[in-house]
Amino acid sequence: MPYERPENSGYAFLSGGGEMGELIRSLDWSLTGLGAPGTWPVSLKQMVSMMLTTRLPVLICWGKDYIQLYNDAFHPINGADKHPKAMGGTACDTYAEIWGTIGAMFEEVMTGKSLGFPDFMVQLERNGSLEDCYFDFSYSPITDEYGHTGGVLVICMETTGKVNAISEFQALNEELAAVNEELAASNEEYAATNEELASVNEELATTNEELKETQENLHGTNRELLESGLRLRTALDTIIRSEKLFRSIAVNIPNSLILVIDKEHRYQLVDGDLMEKLGYQKADYEGKHPTEIGQTERYLASKHLYDRMMDGEKFSIERKAVTGEYYIAHFVPIKNEHEEIDAGLVMVLDVTDIKKGQEESAKLAAIIDSSDDAIISKTFESVITSWNDSAERMFGYTADEIIGETIYKIIPPDRYDEEPGIISRIKNGERVEHYETKRVTKDGRLLDVSLTVSPVKDKQGNIIGISKIARDITEKKLDETRKNDFIGIVSHELKTPLTSLTAMVQLLNSRLKNHEDPFVPNLLAKANIQVKKMNTMINGFLNIARLESGKIQLDKKDFDLTRLVNDIIDETKLISAGYTINSLSCNPIMVNADEDKIGSVITNLLSNAVKYSEKGTTIEVLCEIEGDVAQVSVKDEGPGIREEDIEYLFDRFFRVEDPGASHVSGFGIGLYLSAEIVHRHNGIIRAESEIGKGSVFRFSLPYK
Ligand code: ADP
Repeated sequence: MPYERPENSGYAFLSGGGEMGELIRSLDWSLTGLGAPGTWPVSLKQMVSMMLTTRLPVLICWGKDYIQLYNDAFHPINGADKHPKAMGGTACDTYAEIWGTIGAMFEEVMTGKSLGFPDFMVQLERNGSLEDCYFDFSYSPITDEYGHTGGVLVICMETTGKVNAISEFQALNEELAAVNEELAASNEEYAATNEELASVNEELATTNEELKETQENLHGTNRELLESGLRLRTALDTIIRSEKLFRSIAVNIPNSLILVIDKEHRYQLVDGDLMEKLGYQKADYEGKHPTEIGQTERYLASKHLYDRMMDGEKFSIERKAVTGEYYIAHFVPIKNEHEEIDAGLVMVLDVTDIKKGQEESAKLAAIIDSSDDAIISKTFESVITSWNDSAERMFGYTADEIIGETIYKIIPPDRYDEEPGIISRIKNGERVEHYETKRVTKDGRLLDVSLTVSPVKDKQGNIIGISKIARDITEKKLDETRKNDFIGIVSHELKTPLTSLTAMVQLLNSRLKNHEDPFVPNLLAKANIQVKKMNTMINGFLNIARLESGKIQLDKKDFDLTRLVNDIIDETKLISAGYTINSLSCNPIMVNADEDKIGSVITNLLSNAVKYSEKGTTIEVLCEIEGDVAQVSVKDEGPGIREEDIEYLFDRFFRVEDPGASHVSGFGIGLYLSAEIVHRHNGIIRAESEIGKGSVFRFSLPYK
């Protein structure tokens, strides 16, 4: 603890200031050039007071000796070497090592100037060695009460740390800069190398492009070469093909001879299947003149034709050979690409078939024209395509008027619906024969015609049209009507005496059945059967007459078909001894029909079965329901019917020509009448039969 004089501590201006304050107070300032503090000039006192309270490093150097006073903050600047001697010491002593620098500055300040420098470097000896110390400092004059500069106020901040840090930073920066420079240099090198590489690349790219171009050029040239090669090839192929084609056409035209000659009439081509027949032996004529190959005579006969052809004339001639064949020869001049005739084509064709065909068709046309029947052909669209003289006579239209027109012109409107049916049958390859209908003439008269319609086929069998033969049967129809009327009248007239005769025979029969001479009842029974037969026949004729004059009426009612069948079987059994007739039906089948007429159908089928079969055989009758129809079938073990006759069985007056059945009486009207009755009930009747195996007749009626 420094000695402290009581008088120093009493100065208010020396109070405070921490350690340095205490030191200042403890010093005997009278021993210094400053003298006792009480004697100090006011400005010094004030300055010392301010210094002691300032936290910034402050040094006061007073008087000409620059006696020093400093505060706590300044203490470290002096370090261990200079403190505490510096307090109260002279500045030139304390800072001897830098006095050369700062002394002059102090002197300048004493003249009233202020000085200051940032980061001012001085080498101070303060901690045992010389140190580079940096300061931000300010030297300012302290003016006394007389206006003179009494001392120097030094306020300074040591910046050694900062400066060192900055210089270290700078050094680092420099190093960095150097590294950077190096890097930049290597970068530049890189860049240079890169540039070199880029330029090498560019060169390569250019070279590549050049190569590509050259290659493309080569490709192009190649392509062109290839294309022209191909064109050449195609042209050649075309020529070869054309020649081959021409030759194959020539060879394949049936019944032909093909000659191609040049301007000098030399053969260029001789081919065709007529070669040998026409005196061209199979030799190589090509390039040779006809006179060189022994054809002189023929050549001289044809030369004028060759000349005409070579003069540009195209013509044809027709010849008949001594052997009877017809030939047509076409002469065609052939031009080259300059439109000059340099060759000629002679095509000889055997047209014998065509000629004969023409003759045939002329004959046929003559036949058609002279036919009494109208012969008409038409398309599937019903357009008339041919019309013979008879058609003209019959219908009144000329061929010119009607060809190309519709067939409906000669069909009465109420029969228009016939045509589609006929066409569809023809399309199926069927033939419609003797179809009786009505047609209308140009002047509106109705004709009864019998039509036979057939498909017209080409050589391959394809149906290409329809031919119609129409026969005018108006007269025949009138005849038939007259005949029917006659039959009707006669049958009617016959029926009355026959009814009386039947009654008489039956009466006699009952009266004389017990006659002593058995011959009498026997004969009467036979007479009864014959009378019955005659009755059936006359009834048949009457029915025909009624049917055809439209007088037959159906009297429909509900009845049991099975019962009717069984009743008729029972009746038949009575008059047909020697036959086994089996009824295979048991369940009642109710139908709505004309019982009498259906009964006559069943009777007819059953009596035919009996009539045409041998005694001792079996007949089976079946009545059944088949879907929505009631069906009756009569099966016998008779002789059977030929297939070709079956379709005519239901025609009027049709009887199978069978010498074996010549003893069987009949007019061929039973099945006709049966079919008419069944059809009028909207039913179907048909027969199945095989020679030697018997027959089955079947009819069906709608079943409700
Ligand atoms: P017909 O009075 O001649 O018997 P139909 O119209 O009843 O007349 O029969 C026509 C023809 O059909 C007969 O002439 C006969 O040749 C043939 N026919 C009918 N039924 C049979 C049968 N069951 N077996 C063989 N032929 C038959």
